[in-house]
Amino acid sequence: AERVVIVGAGMAGARTAVALREEGWPGAITLLGAESHPPYDRPPLSKAVLQGGHGGDASAGSEGGASAGSEGGASAGTEGGASADAVTGPAGATSLGIDFAALDVELLLGHPANALRAADRLVVAGDTVLPYDHLVIATGADPVGLPGSETSPGVHVLRTLDDAERLRPVLAAGRRIVIVGAGWIGAELTTAAREAGCPVTVVEATGRPLADALPAEVTAPMAGWYEEAGARLLTGTRVAAVESGGVLLGDGSRLRADAVVVGIGARPATGWLAGSGVELGADGSVRADERLGTSLPDVYAVGDCASFPSARYGERLLIHHWDNAFRGPVTVAARIARCAEETPVYDPVPYFWSEQFGRFLQYAGHHSGGERLLWRGDPAGTSWSVCWLRDGVLTALLAVGRPRDLAQGRRLIERAARLDPERAADPSVPLKSA
Ligand code: FAD
Repeated sequence: AERVVIVGAGMAGARTAVALREEGWPGAITLLGAESHPPYDRPPLSKAVLQGGHGGDASAGSEGGASAGSEGGASAGTEGGASADAVTGPAGATSLGIDFAALDVELLLGHPANALRAADRLVVAGDTVLPYDHLVIATGADPVGLPGSETSPGVHVLRTLDDAERLRPVLAAGRRIVIVGAGWIGAELTTAAREAGCPVTVVEATGRPLADALPAEVTAPMAGWYEEAGARLLTGTRVAAVESGGVLLGDGSRLRADAVVVGIGARPATGWLAGSGVELGADGSVRADERLGTSLPDVYAVGDCASFPSARYGERLLIHHWDNAFRGPVTVAARIARCAEETPVYDPVPYFWSEQFGRFLQYAGHHSGGERLLWRGDPAGTSWSVCWLRDGVLTALLAVGRPRDLAQGRRLIERAARLDPERAADPSVPLKSA
């Protein structure tokens, strides 16, 4: 029988195994993971897991934070057609609720792959050499570091369950924290650290939070959220190096802290593919095709490690969000279990959410600049949305505390629907009627 080897036991890898069985794949499936934990859900790591405040196993508790957090993600996922189970797994905040034994999926944990020998169809993980007929690359992304971040004690990143377990006692002890980066992770971390009572300074190199993700007009209210939470936000401030007692700034001055957390983005974890013949982009991503195949036969890539061409947006997308890791595997599994011709092209409307400063943010679509911005509601208030319109067509939407806008907007974006700008700007008019 043919064997599928999936490298990377995160959301994309785990979902690929499940989707293969759902497709009726009869052959062997091996899921190879670098971490020692069975596959788990990452979004709760910066939310319920850190905010839980309890000791011990992260997957065992955090009821309050977990239900508040996962309801948002789950209901948003459900409205978009995804299963809620993956977010609200029975065993706790980070559980995927997947029974791999029942699916006859072999889990090989604590085995980082270090080479791909494609000519021989072999994956090498130290002493373990695995033959494959089909290979799925799902190795996700690694946090980007700063000089000193690997070597200094008291310097953290937040990507894995182990990272979160190391951070939780630091927060619980109310330590003085410097967070580098005011992106999605930085905002969620600031929220958790302030809730734990930690003094927090956030150092951001650009002039504002989320500068890479959203235009200045939209992030303008967000800078105030840091202040409101009692955190100090230093924008336009570059960190030159991290040290065990704080950070060294670009101007030579130092900021002291008991702990530093670096949250400046992630890069595809594809170093192990060097010399394999798999084509990589300048951003480190595996360059997949429109059905998530790679430059090598019978080798596929999915999730945070893969970019793919989007006809919908006329550009190649590298998406670092949960929904992409959840949905892409359906395409990969269909392509393996059936064939390329029978597999629909993968070209989703991107979706993600974030929980920060007591707010629930959701974004659908993809804006590229040049669109007309349209506000629904007052950004100084507790709930509002922003629509991006190109030639009257809705291309993207950010909803803050307006999940109904998101659910309706997401469908309108999928259909490339036209909106009446005047009606759409009235928050009392349902978006679907605008
Ligand atoms: P990963 O989840 O990174 O899984 C890849 C796995 O592969 C990892 O376990 C890794 O150890 C393993 N691996 C790497 N290299 C190798 C190797 N050589 N051999 C074997 N295994 C290897 N998205 C949202 O939409 N909303 C959110 O609110 C949100 N919150 C987040 C909060 C945090 C703290 C983090 C870190 C991410 C968050 N995300 C969120 C993003 C989302 O979690 C990711 O997009 C998703 O986890 C990607 O899944 P993946 O399987 O592609 O990669």
